[in-house]
Amino acid sequence: MNRAPTCAIVGGGLGGLVAYTTLRHGGLEPDEIDVFGVDADPASTFRDRAVAIRQRQMRSESDGHCFATSFPGLAVRAALRRRSVRPLLESVCDRYHPTVEEFLENVGEARARSGWEESFHLGRIDRVRAVDGGFLLDDAGLYPHVLLAPGHPGLAFPPDLEGDPRSVHAYQAHDYADDVAVVGAGMAAATEWLNALEAGARVVSIRRREPARRPLNVERQYFTRRGLAGFHRAGSEERVALLRGFLAPSYPPGEEWDEPLARAVAAGRFRVEPALNGAEQVICATGFCRGFVHDPLVADLVREHGLTTAASWIVLDPDSTVRALTDETRTLSLAGAAGQWAHPAADTLVGMKYAARFFLSRVRQWRTR
Ligand SMILES: Cc1cc2nc3c(=O)[nH]c(=O)nc-3n(C[C@H](O)[C@H](O)[C@H](O)COP(=O)(O)OP(=O)(O)OC[C@H]3O[C@@H](n4cnc5c(N)ncnc54)[C@H](O)[C@@H]3O)c2cc1C
Repeated sequence: MNRAPTCAIVGGGLGGLVAYTTLRHGGLEPDEIDVFGVDADPASTFRDRAVAIRQRQMRSESDGHCFATSFPGLAVRAALRRRSVRPLLESVCDRYHPTVEEFLENVGEARARSGWEESFHLGRIDRVRAVDGGFLLDDAGLYPHVLLAPGHPGLAFPPDLEGDPRSVHAYQAHDYADDVAVVGAGMAAATEWLNALEAGARVVSIRRREPARRPLNVERQYFTRRGLAGFHRAGSEERVALLRGFLAPSYPPGEEWDEPLARAVAAGRFRVEPALNGAEQVICATGFCRGFVHDPLVADLVREHGLTTAASWIVLDPDSTVRALTDETRTLSLAGAAGQWAHPAADTLVGMKYAARFFLSRVRQWRTR
């Protein structure tokens, strides 16, 4: 039986896939969901960026995957495949990090098993408009429930370096010159220090402040119900300050980072400087453009419907929905980077699941009303 789709997911990346597997696990059929994206492979953006910085291990842990339920996570799967309890023991101590390859296999499996292809439509959505009983997506139709997962709106370059022939963004394909300056001090920068050193380069780390050392991209407490409740209690100004704090650069602690750097310092091949001074190649490990204004679709939605914002964030309810456009007849949810007001780690797989589960529960309430 073919039904008019009730849900649309805009953005066919990992956030879109996580939302899709969650809806499917919750009982929705492929013909009830339309996914709009610019590449049928949900891993394509992630893969290109991970390959560019030669990332081998995920920063996330066992629960960083695209299936709907957190358990069994990637540690259980690795334990079964490797016939070893080691992944499980590491997971208990929060030390298990799947390889990027294992993670990508999981994405492929989730894509194949979920029916993704049956719901996927190739094409960019340019306009979302709230109307009675739902949302119009360009001329694709009316959907009562829409989850936007457009990802980051673009790569950020330091002023004056975009277009400079010496510079490349860390998330763009590149090799290493003999003298490399890496701007930034987060996970991508740290990965690039080691890559360039391994390639035989001399490396200057350009940074304004010392990076924090923490395993996950935000403090672990924000992945717990209690930590999130505290985050949700924070008033607007306090929440903006917290979110700005999370943008400060960080990379994980551990000798796998410290030892090669210490050896390179001793050999005169790695040093820290506050500003650029004429390196042959400049790698901008400076992340993404931040804020809704950089995404034309989301910026237009904010403008057209006068949505509440705070600094560069769209204000969301704790369940990741836009209150002004969500009621018993319709739902608008934001997942991924755009959903940070509801979950500080919205751009992680765990954060994407958080938005997806609330979205599913609203769809279910609507169906049974
Ligand atoms: C190198 C790297 C390593 C990472 N490691 C981890 C990790 O270890 N653990 C973790 O949890 N997270 C990690 N992340 C963060 C996160 O998982 C990724 O950024 C992930 O790709 C985000 O998924 P997304 O769907 O939000 O965005 P994307 O993967 O960028 O997908 C969004 C898609 O939507 C499309 N789109 C945008 N606008 C529209 C529109 N208007 N219409 C149709 N399509 C549209 C985009 O073109 C894109 O294809 C990592 C990120 C990077 C870059």
